[in-house]
Amino acid sequence: MMVKIKHKPFELNMYINGKWRGGETNPKRKVINPANGELIAEAVEGSVSDVKSAVQAARVAFDNGVWSDLSPEERAAYLFKVADRIDERHDELAALETMDNGKPLRESDYNISSAASCFRYYAGLVLAPHGKTYNVPDSVQAMVIREPIGVCGLIVPWNFPLMMSVWKIAPALAAGNTIVFKPSEVTPVTPTKLFKIFDEIGLPKGTANMVLGAGEIIGNEITVNHDVDMISFTGGTDTGRHIMKAASGNIKKISLELGGKSPNIIFADADFETALDYALYGIYYGSGQVCSAGSRILIEESIQDKFIARFVERANRIKVGPGNDPETEMGPLVNQEQLDKVLKYIEIGQKEGAELVCGGYRLTDHGYEKGFFIAPTAFIDTKPEMRIVQEEIFGPVAVFQTFKDEEEAVKLANDTRYGLAGSVFTQDAGKAMRVIKKIRAGITWVNSYHSAYIEAPWHGYKQSGIGFSLGVNGLDEFLETKQINFNLDVKPINWFSK
Ligand code: NDP
Repeated sequence: MMVKIKHKPFELNMYINGKWRGGETNPKRKVINPANGELIAEAVEGSVSDVKSAVQAARVAFDNGVWSDLSPEERAAYLFKVADRIDERHDELAALETMDNGKPLRESDYNISSAASCFRYYAGLVLAPHGKTYNVPDSVQAMVIREPIGVCGLIVPWNFPLMMSVWKIAPALAAGNTIVFKPSEVTPVTPTKLFKIFDEIGLPKGTANMVLGAGEIIGNEITVNHDVDMISFTGGTDTGRHIMKAASGNIKKISLELGGKSPNIIFADADFETALDYALYGIYYGSGQVCSAGSRILIEESIQDKFIARFVERANRIKVGPGNDPETEMGPLVNQEQLDKVLKYIEIGQKEGAELVCGGYRLTDHGYEKGFFIAPTAFIDTKPEMRIVQEEIFGPVAVFQTFKDEEEAVKLANDTRYGLAGSVFTQDAGKAMRVIKKIRAGITWVNSYHSAYIEAPWHGYKQSGIGFSLGVNGLDEFLETKQINFNLDVKPINWFSK
């Protein structure tokens, strides 16, 4: 049975200094359900002056210590409450996530649970001891303590609307910072619900601020504003490059989680059905709109015919449909722009001479024409220099490459500007370890794909990013390190003559 939430389109406002705020003069932005084109919400469009107010509120709150001076235990108590409220509203939030992003309910379910767990994890972690002491060759106690950075600007994309938000918000707040947050203009619904929870639990005024609107205006002002001490961004590599430059005015700390074109290497000695299953999951989970997607499937030549034939057979059977239908295995793309981009890449691949072996078209029957559905797609006969091999398509498009031996597999795997993720399928443990160690990527799997754990650091090499999300590293990202040298022998040193 389809899961439906009856509602009039929501009004989405900004949250600045503990108050909900509408926009100034701009028209409202329409937020659309990608499965059927229906209007879900109307979001106010923020302005530069809204960002300035939000930054000012965060600055005052930080400097007054209303949040940073709370004991870790007091801050943790707020964060545990947030986690509980997310759990209480799990079904509503999951349904809204599916409505806004399009992802199947089983994916939204996991994302919402994971958001609650992330708050709990960082609430707990902030209570753990941190800081160190050092033995130095003086009568001095040298030590470091960890302190919040100040005002953190947090900017996220649309592919995991609540989860990506929480990966930043939870550690930033746990560490004692105040925040100015911008969700994607495409998917602001569940992030706005999170700020409703902040409001309900009475988070101190100015601690968490949210501004809605376009990246080039709102995101840019957060990035250039000199009262923002740190920028933590998740999104495309080209936007990340722009942010790095724009953040240089006051030498902001920066943390960037960027794009990928990750290799999924399958050796002939792999468990065939497991490798096949994960190859499909690697690229078609989230309709391929996943930064770590296994979008390049590298297959050993001796099994390519059998493997690709079975892959195509299974890909053609994937149930594509609206995310709120429990039968659906793959949802629509997030919007028209993303659909156009993916279709354009399919055209480019064909022009470049690659062979399309499945999909490659938009689904338009049975009411699907109102949504942004695309069939699971795969290309063979590719060359490493092709754009479909090098560029992040961010859709359900698998690109097969073939290799003869370990050395060639590694060479092909590393042959892009990205270094986010990668995987190896083999039953030879030595080979698995040799290959995985040579892959220039921060998140890797052996005989698996896509698992991500709140406890473990998430991080890209090369042009896939700088800095960390999740785990202890994810909290460290939002902390300064202060050295304190405490003199234990208080007397003049007479360095200069009296
Ligand atoms: P974008 O880079 O287009 O946008 C990301 C966010 O940045 C949005 O909120 C966007 O605003 C904002 N933005 C856009 N331009 C600017 C600017 N000039 N200054 C400041 N902010 C700006 O990415 P997408 O939203 O299209 O998301 C997809 C990308 O995100 C993919 O490349 C994917 O790989 C990457 N990603 C990486 C992850 C990782 O962990 N490494 C995880 C998830 C996604 P607006 O609302 O206007 O779009």
